[in-house]
Order: sequence, then structure tokens, then C-alpha cells
Amino acid sequence: MKHYQAVVIGGGIVGAGIFRDLALHGVEALLIEKNDFSSQTSQSSSKLLHGGIRYLENMDFELVFEALHEKNLLLSLLPHLAHEVPFYLPVYSDAKRPLWMIKIGMFLYDLLSSFQNSPHRISSADNVLKEIPGLKKTGLKGAGVYYDGVMDDAKITLEVIYDALKEANVKAMSHVEVVDVTISGKLNIIQIKDQFTKEISTVSSDQVIYALGPFTDRFLSKIPMYNWQNILLPSKGSHIWIKADDLPLTFPIVITTNDGRVIFVIPHGDRVLVGTTEVPFDGDYFNVQAGLDEINYLLNAVNNYFPTAQLKREHILSSFAGIRPLVSEGNNSLGKTSREHKIYQPMSNTFVIAGGKYTTFRIMGQEITRQICHLHGKSYNQDFSKKPLRTKSLVTPFAWHRPTSEELKNICINEMPKTFEDLVIRRLSISNRAHWNLRSKDIEFNDFFIEHFDLLKNYIQISKEDIINFL
Ligand SMILES: Cc1cc2nc3c(=O)[nH]c(=O)nc-3n(C[C@H](O)[C@H](O)[C@H](O)COP(=O)(O)OP(=O)(O)OC[C@H]3O[C@@H](n4cnc5c(N)ncnc54)[C@H](O)[C@@H]3O)c2cc1C
Repeated sequence: MKHYQAVVIGGGIVGAGIFRDLALHGVEALLIEKNDFSSQTSQSSSKLLHGGIRYLENMDFELVFEALHEKNLLLSLLPHLAHEVPFYLPVYSDAKRPLWMIKIGMFLYDLLSSFQNSPHRISSADNVLKEIPGLKKTGLKGAGVYYDGVMDDAKITLEVIYDALKEANVKAMSHVEVVDVTISGKLNIIQIKDQFTKEISTVSSDQVIYALGPFTDRFLSKIPMYNWQNILLPSKGSHIWIKADDLPLTFPIVITTNDGRVIFVIPHGDRVLVGTTEVPFDGDYFNVQAGLDEINYLLNAVNNYFPTAQLKREHILSSFAGIRPLVSEGNNSLGKTSREHKIYQPMSNTFVIAGGKYTTFRIMGQEITRQICHLHGKSYNQDFSKKPLRTKSLVTPFAWHRPTSEELKNICINEMPKTFEDLVIRRLSISNRAHWNLRSKDIEFNDFFIEHFDLLKNYIQISKEDIINFL
């Protein structure tokens, strides 16, 4: 049985960040992910590196301070996967928060970033209408303009893992499920199941770290020795992608819904992302989809601000949803529950980390790694994880190109896809056929992949049906 000093379970951004920091400190570490890396919550976010301006209302100053500093660090470390953009917060005469209040909030936001944010400003109504064509004019007083980051969530997680794998004595496995964990003496015995062959095997470790995001309670409550009490208040959030031609925007807009929530409308090249919702959810977390009522809610919100857009369901390219792994604070208010992370230690060699934001993943990784290093008598250096990532993805959404045959082969060899879906969605950044048609106007989805079928079948699990049935 192979032994590791630390085994990290869960290959979303939190597990990836812990795995990388452990690797950079020379800890023999294994990362285990049931599906593809970054295939769950960490590819379903609003794709913002941000402090969370709205959390100022909840007086969550510590979280906003931490997240803003992380945002600005990550923007400098990952220029190909994230960039800073101005966010417009239009204010109307009937707004709950008038312009002067927005101005104070934005000042506080920049202050908490230690003025690393590009400075906020107020834009007059006339200017806003020029900068955001199509925006509702009646009652417009102006807009607050502040700066946050737009990112590619799935790719960042992948590149964090690729970077860790540059170190010796570490390994990352995808499509391998942890099915049980027991203790033998001081060791964790971790039973794992290959998702393709269904073969069961075991590995052992000194420490085990659960980075299961929304799956935390459901997994840990199945392991009797932990006597686990649920900690999460799962909240579903959905998004829709609209073709940029149907909603031409240069800058992201922050809109307020009739029920007082905030929704982001964010241009990403040829597409615009609209989200998110916040509803309780108790179904299958591995198969979360945007509900019809959520989709209508998002369309209504956009149509209220852009009355001439008249967006309908047929304008939607695709939708996606995820579960926020919020740590319950004893109340049931999803919007007011803090986004801070928490670490639990149900046994001395077991760490559970949950909550937090995508933006703060590096800090979460540091807190765990510091403790693991201490247990192994290693000194901890908080600057290691500030180093830039060393492996770039071949295809990135911000500079998308259709790969050549040679590039497809290199992606299969270097970027660890195991299925057709891993390849198309997370390595080639194509979410569905409509999205492919938007980008690859001269070749049909089926034709392109059938043409490369013989090449791809050498590297990934693929059948012609996978190609034909891909939505
Ligand atoms: C709608 C929405 C919008 C958001 N927007 C933002 C945003 O704009 N900016 C921001 O900073 N944050 C945002 N967040 C928060 C952020 O996305 C999450 O905090 C983060 O992605 C959680 O990552 P994770 O690694 O904890 O969870 P996940 O990404 O879900 O990773 C957990 C992994 O554990 C794996 N797993 C489960 N069971 C097993 C098992 N038995 N064996 C092995 N592996 C297993 C799962 O397959 C999964 O991949 C948003 C969240 C949501 C839901």
C-alpha cells in the first residue's frame, strides 16, 4: 500500500490550493478527485476575483480585506486567466442605496484593499448611458464604478494542480472516488475506487484533509468514526450565458433585483454571464441545474435594466448551477451567512476545511499547510504560494483558438483530461454546441471531433456516441 504524508480529498480550488502549498513545502502529498478536477463548484462560480463589495453591508470587513488583498495578488500572478475590469453600479431615483451611500461603500472597498484596487469613481447619468448603451434611462442618477477581477475559474484550479505536480513526491488522481476512510494505529487508511474500472484499492497517510466543498456533510456523515454533525447551509446559485450580440456590453454591470438582491452581468468576449440566484437546495449535488424559475428571474432582472434587449429563453446559450458551501452560523439566511472559511479537526490527524470564497483559496491552503508542516517538523514559508504558476493551459477562454491536431495531442498528454467532457468543457473551454458554433463557425462540432477520433482514443475515454450526444 502506497503511503503519503498527506492525502487531500477533493480536487476543486480549495483542495488544489492546499495540494500546491503542500507540494511547494516538500510534503509527500496525494490529491484525489472523484470526477474531473474543477468539475463541480469550482467551475460554477460567478468567475469573479473579488473582495465582495456587498459583504460590506454585513460588516464582514475582515473577509473583504483578506479577499481584496488576495484578488490583487492573483491578478498579478495569473494575467492570462484573470484581469481587472470596472464594474458599473447604476443608481436610480427609487434606489434603496443612493449615490452618496454607494460612494462611501466604494471608498471603504478601496481602503480595505490598501488602495491596491484601481480607484473608484462616480459616472454621471449622461456618461453612463454612453458607456453602457441600452441601459434604462428613466430615473437614472448616475453610477458608481469600482474595480474587481474577472477570471476563468476552471482553468485556475487546473493550473494550480499542474504547478504542484512540478514538485517531486506528489501525485494527483482524477476520476477516483474515496469510498471509505478508517484508522489503523496512527495512519489513515483510505479506500479508493477507480471510476472507470471500478477497482478498489487503498493508500495510507499520516494526515487526511477533506476539501469537499458542498459535499462535506454528505461524505463525512457516512464515516462513523467522525461522529460528524452537519456544518453547511447549502445554497444553490445559477447562471446563464447570453450571446454578446444579444446583449452588447463593454463593462460588467451590477444590477439590483426587485427583491433587493444583487446580480452581475459580465461580458466575457463573445458571451455575457448573468448571475446569480440564491436558493436552498437538497437534491443531488453532483447534478445541479439551473431551474426554470431561476432562469426567468435572471432574464427579468436583465430586461428591467435593458428594456430594449427583450431577452427570452431562446437567447440563452447555456446555463449552469453550483452549490455554495456556506458554513452555517445558526441562522437560515443564505444571503447574510458569512463567506468565511472554517477548519475542523474531528481527529488529531484529520482536517476538514469548508466555506470561503474562490478568491481566498490560497489563504485556505496556507492555513492547512502550516499545520501539516508543523506536524512533520518542516518550516513553513508563507511566500512560497505567492510564486507565479509554471504551466499554462494551451487553450484559454480569454484568448480562444481552435486547437490543431498537434495541440489536441499535447493537451491530452499534459493537461490530464480523462474523458471527452473533461477535454471539451474544461481543457477547450467549450460549454456546449451553441458555444462551439459561436466560436468555430467553419466546422461542425461532430466533424471536428470525429476527424480527430483516432488520435483522441489513444489518450482519453471517448466513443463516437460521446461526440454525437454532446449537448
Ligand atoms: C453560484 C456560485 C457563485 C460563486 N461565485 C464566486 C465568485 O464569483 N468568486 C468567488 O471568489 N467565489 C465564488 N463562489 C464560491 C466558490 O465557487 C466556492 O467557494 C469554491 O469553488 C468551493 O471550492 P471547493 O474546492 O471547496 O469545492 P468544489 O469545487 O465543489 O470541490 C470539491 C470536490 O470534492 C469532490 N468530491 C466529492 N466527494 C468526493 C469523494 N468521495 N472522493 C473524491 N472527491 C470527492 C467533488 O467532485 C468536487 O470536485 C461561488 C459559488 C457559487 C456556488
